[in-house]
Amino acid sequence: MTNPESTYDVLLVGGGVIGLSLAWELSRHGAKVCVADRGLHGQEASWAGAGMIPPGPGKDFWGVASPVEHLAGVSQPLHAEWHGRLLEQTGIDNGYQASGALHVAESEAEGELLRQEAEHWRRLGTEWQSIGVAELSDLEPALAARANRFAAAYYLPQESQLRNPRHAHALVAACQKQGVDLRSGVEIHDFKSAGGRIVSAVTSRGSIRAEQFCLTAGCWTGQVAAKLGLELSVKPIRGQIVLLHGPAGLLSRHVNAGKRYVVPRREGRLLIGSTMEDVGFLKQNTAAATAELLRFAASLLPATADLPIETSWSGLRPATNDGLPLMGRISRFENTWIAAGHGRSGLQLSPGTAVVMRALMQGTQPEVDVSSLGIER
Ligand SMILES: Cc1cc2nc3c(=O)[nH]c(=O)nc-3n(C[C@H](O)[C@H](O)[C@H](O)COP(=O)(O)OP(=O)(O)OC[C@H]3O[C@@H](n4cnc5c(N)ncnc54)[C@H](O)[C@@H]3O)c2cc1C
Repeated sequence: MTNPESTYDVLLVGGGVIGLSLAWELSRHGAKVCVADRGLHGQEASWAGAGMIPPGPGKDFWGVASPVEHLAGVSQPLHAEWHGRLLEQTGIDNGYQASGALHVAESEAEGELLRQEAEHWRRLGTEWQSIGVAELSDLEPALAARANRFAAAYYLPQESQLRNPRHAHALVAACQKQGVDLRSGVEIHDFKSAGGRIVSAVTSRGSIRAEQFCLTAGCWTGQVAAKLGLELSVKPIRGQIVLLHGPAGLLSRHVNAGKRYVVPRREGRLLIGSTMEDVGFLKQNTAAATAELLRFAASLLPATADLPIETSWSGLRPATNDGLPLMGRISRFENTWIAAGHGRSGLQLSPGTAVVMRALMQGTQPEVDVSSLGIER
C-alpha cells in the first residue's frame, strides 16, 4: 500500500514521454515529484511511436509561428541537448541522430500538397531543398529505382530521429537518479478536493497527496479528467507499425510519403508506418493495415518485398478535436494542470512541453505563450 502520508510538490498522472519529461524537468528545478502510472512508465504511445522529430521554425521566425510551431522550434535544439544530458546522467544513448529526412509525393495531388507544405516551411524559416531524381538517388540509392515516379521530393537536413524505447528508459533512469518517485501499477481512480484545490489522488494502491497535480495520461486523460467533472475532447487514434528486418544501410534517413513513412534504424531494421484509425481503445494489428503498409513499403523500396517481418505493434495517439495539444491550468482547481493531447507530435513536442509546463507550474514566465492551448478554448 502507498503511504497515505507521503506528500509531493507535484503528482503527475501518467508516465509517458510527456509525464516523464515534465518530471525530469521539475525535479531538476528542485521539485519533489511522483509519477504514477497504471502500467509501466513509457510503455504506451510513447513506446509505440516511430521516433521522428520534424524540424521546427528557425529562431528568427518564432514571432510569426503559432504556439505549437513555436513549441516545436523550442523543442528541436532541446532534443539534441537532452540526448547529451541523458547520456551523461544515465549512460543510456536514446539513439538521437540529426539524420535529415526526405519527403516525397507519389502522385500529382500529393505533390501539390507537399509544395504547399514547403511554402509553409519557407515562411517559418525551416531549411529544405527541393531535389531531383539524381540528387535523390545520390542521397538514398535504394530509392533510385522509383525516383523518377515522384511528383515532388524535398530534403529536410534538420529533421532528426530517436529510438522511443531507449528514450523512455533513459528518462526513467534519469528521473530515478534525480529522486523522482516513479510508481508503476498505480492507477488513479479519483481525486479529493477542498477549497478549490485537489488535495490527494485516490489510487488503486492508496492515496497520494501533493501540492500540485498534472494530468499527463495520454489518450486516457479524458477519463481521468472526468473524475474532476471535466469533459475533454481527448480520444485515441490508433497507429499501426510493421517492423521489417533489413540489411544495415539500406536507407540512411527516414522517408515520408503523405501520412506513411519508412524509418530506418542503424542495424538495418525498417519501421513501416502508420495508420490513423478512430477505433476506440483497441490496440491491435489488423491484416488489412499490415497488407497496406507492406504494399506501400514495396512501392517505395522494392527490396522490402523480400525482407522478413520481425514484428508489428500498434499504439494509441492522444488526439484532440482541433489537433492541438491541451496545456495549462484547469481553472476549476487552482493547483491542477494538464499536458496532453499531442496527437502525432508528442515525442517531437515533449521537451518544449516540459520546459513550458515546468515554468507555468513554478510560477515563472514560460518561453512559449501557450495561453491559447488551455482546456477552455
Ligand atoms: C504508431 C505511432 C507513431 C508515432 N510516431 C511519432 C513520431 O514519429 N513523432 C512524434 O513526435 N510522435 C509520434 N507519435 C505520437 C506520440 O507517440 C504521442 O503523441 C506521445 O507518445 C504521447 O505521449 P503521452 O505521454 O501523452 O501518452 P502515453 O505515452 O500514452 O502515456 C500515457 C500514460 O498514462 C498512463 N495512464 C493512463 N491512465 C492512467 C490512470 N488512470 N492512472 C495512472 N496512469 C494512467 C498510461 O499507462 C500511459 O503510460 C506516434 C504515435 C504512434 C501510436
